[in-house]
Amino acid sequence: MKIGIPKETAPNERRVALTPDAVSRLVKAGHEVVVEAGAGGEAGFPDDAYTTAGARAGDPTTADVVCRVQKPSTVEVGKLREGTSLVGLLQAATSTDLLRLLAQRRVTAFSLELLPRITRAQPMDVLSSQATVAGYKAVLLAADTAPRFFPMLVTAAGTLPPARVLVLGAGVAGLQAIATARRLGAVVSGFDVRPAVKEQIESLGAKFLAMEERLEGEGAGGYAKELSADQHSRELEFLARSVKDADVVVTTAAIPGKRAPILVTRAAVDGMHPGSVIVDLAAESGGNCELTQAGTQVMHRGVAILGPVNLPATLPQHASQMYARNISSFLGHVAKDGALRLDFTDEITKATCVTHDGKVLLA
Ligand code: NAD
Repeated sequence: MKIGIPKETAPNERRVALTPDAVSRLVKAGHEVVVEAGAGGEAGFPDDAYTTAGARAGDPTTADVVCRVQKPSTVEVGKLREGTSLVGLLQAATSTDLLRLLAQRRVTAFSLELLPRITRAQPMDVLSSQATVAGYKAVLLAADTAPRFFPMLVTAAGTLPPARVLVLGAGVAGLQAIATARRLGAVVSGFDVRPAVKEQIESLGAKFLAMEERLEGEGAGGYAKELSADQHSRELEFLARSVKDADVVVTTAAIPGKRAPILVTRAAVDGMHPGSVIVDLAAESGGNCELTQAGTQVMHRGVAILGPVNLPATLPQHASQMYARNISSFLGHVAKDGALRLDFTDEITKATCVTHDGKVLLA
């Protein structure tokens, strides 16, 4: 099978879908790889590292399967040959026009954010690998923005107490944020609507913040479900009291297919002390803080509210390395004997394949 690696063209995207290491494994497995000039340059993988790994420099659209990070532009779809396959984070649920175009060109497309979160799919789980990067980077941004140290310092110039960090939403990104803030020496607490995460938070040396009322926010597939309006308003009151004591709040809460829930209202920010920092990882899906603006920093009464977008692209080497592992596992799953063999009774293929045989398959 011939696999193509294009240079990403989305603004500020510095990741690459396959790294030289991954290429070397694919070539050993009998595949051919063609890489566009400069594809891995911004992630720290120069062209000659790819050729040393066994790839050929050239036009990736000549491949049977094109592997990308971000979805292609209309111009890029126009260059894909009929019968080609495409793998990437295509954001299929919000890309109706793109899917129609891909189907018209008879491209078989796989949108990897749709992978089911099942044990068998864990090695391909791009959402988890990239959320790990985002959670880590969110804390570094907070530490860089905060006007104070994270660790406690006992110095001749006085004793400085550690920063108090509160992480709202303890999924993959949230747990990584907790671990990173702990490593920097902060005193960390975590909160989630899924009671199951209490133990995970505590095993990282953080405190689980519990409401008096036990929230049963666990929905299908281990994800959260939306709280009732009453429960949500009690949650907001509880969090408004909790964020007052925090120097840093990192929010990561999400509900699949829905706008991110508001967890920190304007009134709650009013109650925070000047110099506090909020990093809202849900900025791209509407924000967990009422004042967040995606892609920028807002100052409100001395509180900095950061709404970073596409944080994984800011750590492109390791983000690409993890992504490349995910893609390689996915290719290993859908390809047999040097070609794609699609089995639509397989949960992974069925969930991720969004165009095939001239049709859009997404419901
Ligand atoms: P996510 O990005 O969908 O959500 C982040 C967190 O926000 C979740 O922990 C969620 O419970 C929380 N949240 C939602 N609404 C909230 C609210 N109102 N208040 C507070 N918190 C709220 O989650 P994710 O990181 O993608 O992980 C979701 C689940 O999937 C986790 O249980 C994780 O362990 C599981 N998972 C399973 C696999 C697998 O088996 N392959 C892989 C990855 C993740």
